[in-house]
Amino acid sequence: MSNALLEVRALNAWYGESHVLHGVDLDIREGETVTLLGRNGAGKTTTLRAIMGILRRREGAIRLRGRDLLALPLHRVAQTGLGYVPEERGIFASLSVEENLALPPKVADGGMSIEEIYHLFPNLYERRHSQGTKLSGGEQQMLAIARILRTGASLILLDEPTEGLAPVIVQRIGDVLVALKERGMTILLVEQNFRFARKVADRFYLMEDGRMVNSFPGNELDSHMDELHSVLGV
Ligand code: ATP
Repeated sequence: MSNALLEVRALNAWYGESHVLHGVDLDIREGETVTLLGRNGAGKTTTLRAIMGILRRREGAIRLRGRDLLALPLHRVAQTGLGYVPEERGIFASLSVEENLALPPKVADGGMSIEEIYHLFPNLYERRHSQGTKLSGGEQQMLAIARILRTGASLILLDEPTEGLAPVIVQRIGDVLVALKERGMTILLVEQNFRFARKVADRFYLMEDGRMVNSFPGNELDSHMDELHSVLGV
């Protein structure tokens, strides 16, 4: 696919001697929300970690706006406008919401101000003096996303943002993703909850055993249900 913002080609990755990704291809266009689906252990998180460069043993190509990310040291990757919200969220538990929001360095142009963040996440404003440990799972997830938005990232990688959250909070996270899409954000979402993902995904990739097994537009999800159930093991 031409004019992709992020282009992953024939990506192989290893944890030590363990070969986990086998020739992964992935494209994301500017402004697109792409969802990676697959069961536990399929390699979704590993794909995100390999793109970010947290996992260093990689072969293949990863290009962001044509720029080769494989050659960049980890601390330079965030400066390219790539943001990562890991499954474990990565907020500072001992600090308040406001302190968490004050901390991320502005690594690229266009980072949201704290005022903009509070506009997008009114509940974080209400909880601005609360310590990270006092937040609910949903609030922690929103804070984790908000911290990445502060950095000015234009492509965000989200690892299972809805995991373990109550349906009403899942809905709220979906609303946030829609609002980010409307602002032109490009999103790579890892999800097991495809009912949630279908509300935001422009395109799906299905992953199995470290390989991409299919890709199709969001509005074709229904015609891929049998395959989806087999890939997700549900
Ligand atoms: P999950 O939803 O469970 O996170 P996933 O699709 O994200 O699933 P990965 O976490 O990417 O899957 O795991 C892919 C494979 O890599 C699995 O076989 C897993 O056991 C293995 N793996 C993951 N992390 C490590 C690690 N730190 N060291 C060695 N192997 C790992």
